[in-house]
Amino acid sequence: MNTVEVKKIWEEIKQDLQKQIPATTFDTWISHLEAISSEENSFTLISGESFGVKYIRENYYKTIFECFKKYFGKEIIVNIEFNQEYADKIKKNKLKVEKKLEKEKQLEEEHKKSIENLSYVKSLNINLRYRFDNFVEDSNNKIAKAAAQAVAQNPTAKYNPLYIQGGSGLGKTHLMQAIGHYVTMKGNLKVQCIKTEDFINDYVNSTAFVPNKNTTSAMNKFRNKYRNVDILLIDDIQFIENKKKCIDELFHTLDTLYNANKQIVLTSDKLPKDLPEIPKRLRTRFEQGLVVEIKPPEFETRVQILKNLAKEKGIENISQDVFEYIAKYYKDNVRELEGAFTKVNAYSDIEQEPITLKYAKQVLKCEENLNKPTINSIIDYIANFYNVTSEDIKSTSRVQNISNARAVVCYIAREKLQNSYETIAVKLNKRHQTVMYAADKVKKTIKTDNNLRNDVEIIIKNLGL
Ligand code: ADP
Ligand code: MG
Repeated sequence: MNTVEVKKIWEEIKQDLQKQIPATTFDTWISHLEAISSEENSFTLISGESFGVKYIRENYYKTIFECFKKYFGKEIIVNIEFNQEYADKIKKNKLKVEKKLEKEKQLEEEHKKSIENLSYVKSLNINLRYRFDNFVEDSNNKIAKAAAQAVAQNPTAKYNPLYIQGGSGLGKTHLMQAIGHYVTMKGNLKVQCIKTEDFINDYVNSTAFVPNKNTTSAMNKFRNKYRNVDILLIDDIQFIENKKKCIDELFHTLDTLYNANKQIVLTSDKLPKDLPEIPKRLRTRFEQGLVVEIKPPEFETRVQILKNLAKEKGIENISQDVFEYIAKYYKDNVRELEGAFTKVNAYSDIEQEPITLKYAKQVLKCEENLNKPTINSIIDYIANFYNVTSEDIKSTSRVQNISNARAVVCYIAREKLQNSYETIAVKLNKRHQTVMYAADKVKKTIKTDNNLRNDVEIIIKNLGL
């Protein structure tokens, strides 16, 4: 009888045995027995456990013998022997299984940890999309990226504070968050990542008078949050201008961190010297480490950013000319560049049209927009119309005709140029909420105010919008 047949027979007899022997005994001593040969009147089973062999012979030989008798229809001798080779084989297998289990456990723990890390990172206001590896580098942002990486790898060693300056949508937040992401993943330093607006709100809430509130404890909590960290990342620091009390608090926060040899990273759309409303002592702090600038990306970089975005969204088969077309027209703001691609993609989804160059042109109409006046020319025209200057419109003045002119700029730039609130806000040195409010107010007022409606209609007509 060949070995395959022998093993088959043993499997069948084993099933019968399983019904007659207690489960624990069966699992421990019987299930691993291996059938190796069958002669005329004998059948041989081997075991890797010498104790097991003795135990089975003494306690279950009769049961086993009866089962074999039933199967073969005659009495046969069942040899149950200890076999060293088999014992070694079992041992080896056992080790293999243990190793495998160990590995699985390790993987499971790593997975668990990365999920914990993920929610931890999220709780720190860190956007996982912003990393160094997906920040496309060129000569216009190379220094900023290298400085950010140096800070992430070795905080406080070189540039403290690191001040990243650049126009809207050029990757300041991306680099700052990449620092936070990198440091958090390394896991040994405490990071606090915050928008300036949130820092201001936090401060205002901590100091606001509320009956029965323990202001000292609120302030302690606030200070603990921002001062008891290894790295403080503050985005869009230009918004601190005009917030006098907050400026003081920020100054002391930065001072405390700096003296304790903790890292500070700041971003802003303006260089420290172009923030005249911020007291010199704070501006000097900003400039104390390294100030790096990001300039708009080159054409090839813009194409690459779009390609990466398509890949990230799982969109395939888009021809190079589509990327190049969008990159050609969206030069100054990567957020708008990405927005343009997202728009084409969304339209193609809705209309079930493939993304071709023709289709992208149809959706974006870049050539037409090129001939439209820019926000700068709108500001100049409207300033002239209301007899004020463009600088007045960009200033903080609240004189009636200046704020009216400013509100009309917001409305027309939004409604007719479809500029984002943020783009308009940057041009006017305002917060995007302010622009949104002004544009909305004009929209509502022209329904009832004939003078304003006439003004707006004339301006729109003369600008050819
Ligand atoms: P900012 O803070 O300067 O206004 P963001 O950092 O928010 O700009 O960038 C706007 C968008 O453009 C983000 O989606 C960001 O990932 C992307 N972006 C900007 N610059 C780059 C770059 N060099 N490589 C890849 N993506 C970029
Ligand atoms: Mg930003």
